[in-house]
Amino acid sequence: MNSRNLLHPQIETLSMRDLSVLQEEKWRQQWDYVISRSPFYREKFAGATGTTPTLDDIRALPLTDKEELRKSQETEPPLGNYVACPPEDVNRIHHTSGTTGRALLIANTRRDLEVIARLGARGFFAAGLRPSDRVVHCLNYQLWTGGVTDHMSLEGTGAAVIPYGVGGTRRLIETIRHQRVTAISCTPSYPATLEQTLREAFDLEPRQLGLRLALFGGEAGLDSQRFRDTMEDKWGFRVRNANFGLSEVMSIIASQCEETNDLHCIAGDALFIELLDPRTGERLGIEDGISGELVCTHLEKACQPLIRYRTRDVVTVTGAGPCRCGRTGFRFRVTGRTDDMFNVRGVNVFPTAIHKVIVEHPDIASGHFRIVLAGPGPYERIRLRVEAAADLPRERWDGAARALENAIRGAIGASAAIEMLAFETLPRTEGKTSIIERG
Ligand SMILES: [Zn+2]
Repeated sequence: MNSRNLLHPQIETLSMRDLSVLQEEKWRQQWDYVISRSPFYREKFAGATGTTPTLDDIRALPLTDKEELRKSQETEPPLGNYVACPPEDVNRIHHTSGTTGRALLIANTRRDLEVIARLGARGFFAAGLRPSDRVVHCLNYQLWTGGVTDHMSLEGTGAAVIPYGVGGTRRLIETIRHQRVTAISCTPSYPATLEQTLREAFDLEPRQLGLRLALFGGEAGLDSQRFRDTMEDKWGFRVRNANFGLSEVMSIIASQCEETNDLHCIAGDALFIELLDPRTGERLGIEDGISGELVCTHLEKACQPLIRYRTRDVVTVTGAGPCRCGRTGFRFRVTGRTDDMFNVRGVNVFPTAIHKVIVEHPDIASGHFRIVLAGPGPYERIRLRVEAAADLPRERWDGAARALENAIRGAIGASAAIEMLAFETLPRTEGKTSIIERG
């Protein structure tokens, strides 16, 4: 371990035992603060407010979900009655980027913003960003936290940050070349646009741009080793998912270090994390191989503190002990969302896991497919309609279906029944179409 690779070694290398002591200490203060200041929680936990529960005890408290926060903001606009600080302490207000439902307003105090930036910086530093870097931040600065809040986290590493935002690809390329920029923070899909402009307007190859590090937010493609390898090979930069979080909880909760492709939880001194069995809601131990829904409790938050907040993200723990990088925070992969999980003979199946298998077979499948769920389940097998690759002859469809069924059984542990469809049978409308068909 080399502590120069850690931004906050005294926190990032704490043993589980020392971390729990720190967490309990912060929690006692936070609980008193929330119960005395947040009307929402005073009401929600009426009857449980006599003595301070330990972090172990809180498993008995009801969960908080996003719908409750939305309702709270509707009834007491604009910020909701879960706000615990005086109005004059609010220092920055964002919107969630929410793809489902109405956006939430995310408000923070000066102190909250310092905590968010400190943790975010820890995440970007873990992913390899250093004070010697110059980084262009190419996310949208309008309303949502990806812009200015992530910008402050990038600055927290000591790197020089260029606030770029979205669009203006030609000028971005000029900026990168002129200022000898070494790192880019953007969405995983943006380099494709950058590449096109590089070739067309500058007659340059991606590698000639000289970027050494790409910091990406958590889109699904990042979990695919093939996707990352292809991109690293083309650009000569290191691909890191530096940005797993939720704006209502903490912009950056976890980030990849330089030693592993799994996400490190880096937020232990500001968040208490529980993993809950997606079916029973029972708390699970954080141990290798365990999968559960991520539920977060703020240990330090003044404006919109949350207790036992359901993220709906199901994660699988891939490392509970210390990592080679020296960090002790547990490592995990995001397995899917509880919203679209279904059960096949006792196995929890996520559409993202099926998607991953399908896109790993570009020779036989176009990547477009539908999951057919008849009735409420549980189901006997995964019924899929899968589009054949453009140039796959019809006589090979049967073989392709069997190959995909085998791959799904191997990867997910459930059997599948696949019907092949001709190329371009399924609509290509972006985002709006669900890949689950219920019948
Ligand atoms: Zn590590």
